[in-house]
Amino acid sequence: MTSLYLRRQTPEQRTELIRNLHQSQNNVCFICEEPIDLAIHKDALDIDHIIPISVSGKDDPSNFALTHASCNRAKQASNLEVARTLCRLDKIRSSLASENRGPNLADILAIHGGAKHNLNFSRQGDRIRFACPELGSNQITDLPIYTDELSGFGYFFTKLPIAYLHHDDKINPRAIGQNISKLIQEFYLKRPQLHPSLGWIHTADGEPSTVRIFDGQHKAAAQILLGVRSLPVRVFINPDIDILLKTNFNAGTSLRQVAFDKSVQRHLGNTVYVQRVERYQAEHNLAEDHFGFSESDLVKYFRGESREVKKYILDAVRDTITYHPDNKLKEYVDLGGRNTERPLSYSTIEKTFYSFFIYQDVLDTPLDFRLDEEENPREHEKEQILQLMNIIAEEIFVGRFDPDIGTLRIENRIQKGEVLPLEHIRAFRMSKEEVVYNWLKYVEQIIKNYFIMQGRPIQEEKLFHYKFPQPLWDRIRVFIRNLSNLPIWVNNELSQTVFGGKQNYAFWQAIFETGKSPQGVRVLAEPLDLMKMIQE
Ligand SMILES: [Zn+2]
Repeated sequence: MTSLYLRRQTPEQRTELIRNLHQSQNNVCFICEEPIDLAIHKDALDIDHIIPISVSGKDDPSNFALTHASCNRAKQASNLEVARTLCRLDKIRSSLASENRGPNLADILAIHGGAKHNLNFSRQGDRIRFACPELGSNQITDLPIYTDELSGFGYFFTKLPIAYLHHDDKINPRAIGQNISKLIQEFYLKRPQLHPSLGWIHTADGEPSTVRIFDGQHKAAAQILLGVRSLPVRVFINPDIDILLKTNFNAGTSLRQVAFDKSVQRHLGNTVYVQRVERYQAEHNLAEDHFGFSESDLVKYFRGESREVKKYILDAVRDTITYHPDNKLKEYVDLGGRNTERPLSYSTIEKTFYSFFIYQDVLDTPLDFRLDEEENPREHEKEQILQLMNIIAEEIFVGRFDPDIGTLRIENRIQKGEVLPLEHIRAFRMSKEEVVYNWLKYVEQIIKNYFIMQGRPIQEEKLFHYKFPQPLWDRIRVFIRNLSNLPIWVNNELSQTVFGGKQNYAFWQAIFETGKSPQGVRVLAEPLDLMKMIQE
């Protein structure tokens, strides 16, 4: 910020200017909208141009804003109105961090008076009519219905007040990404894009319809955050929801049009899986509770998309475990909130637990195979992975990892001499992907060894399909407890070396197998001895 105007001011004039701005801004910072106290913040205030002079903003008080100095330094856009909008979004984001998710259009609508009402549509031939009486407008809008040349769906274009727009979190479960900030800046600079969002309604006689937005939530949210209160929408009438779901699934996978959080993509895959099962039942005249067909039957039946159906099946397994109400580890997994409170990333969970322990092919046994006897292989798999996660949660995380301390710069803080609880440091270090990868491999080995010692032949890739007896569970718990008691996890001297940066899988493999890092630095007193590690 170079301001000739400000440089020419006397200290008294500057104080006067600050006082005036403070008053006209209702005593809050222009960027963060939190209070400014002229006494307390006296030496920590900035005056800046709202519109930067580099883009022809004026260098006079009409274009000045008062901010906390730190807010001005940390601002995410040079234009202060944009910076303020982004700051608002950050606040929504952090308010949702405790729910382990990022904001979506529903959150933005909720705080701006959106998603309040439904609409009564009247359809006559190729016209559709409605009014917005809740907003005091009884004038009837009468619009033509078009037919989508490719999908055959009927639709109309309109512009609706946000009070009538709702977010569809079933078809579009993803959160708003960080990239929205660029979109907000583009819109602010008056550069139009393909603004209309895609929505859908179900119309039935006399029933009010909810207009649900299922695509274009970033553009919709960006407009709302910039103060727009009526949005253009292309509304499909009674579309096939299955097709919309699949379209959105592909947008995140094969088309890569959007960056989905992995966990959200899995959730969507699960939703499509459920739809496929229902369609299979309906098209075979089976009852809703009939599950006497197998995963491979599904893949065969939906022949044109067998690869996708296989994906949906595995997504459903992952999703069920991830979001299971009894999953104690979930609390410690970042599912897309992008926060620094949780030690495990969802991607780590996929690359270790799910890739090691979920059978990656489809099963020939019926979905309800021996379900009543509680001997169904997929159910065993899900339940036992869940049980393993819970043991790990209990032994390493619950009551030990402190979300208030979080994960941000832990090693730096240790190096600077900050004293952190040892159990927190241990949980943090044991959660690193390359570390989990290696110790979970040992858990796998312990399970295999157990069955071999019992003389039971097993298929290794279906390890979790076999029911684990209690002594095996005890053994796993003892191993994890002994592992967590190794002194390395709480050794501050290893902060700069072993735990200093991200290592690869082989680095930790070497440490566990030899006691030394690949560079020959001794880390463990001796190599891991699995026989010892399973003894109390
Ligand atoms: Zn501020």
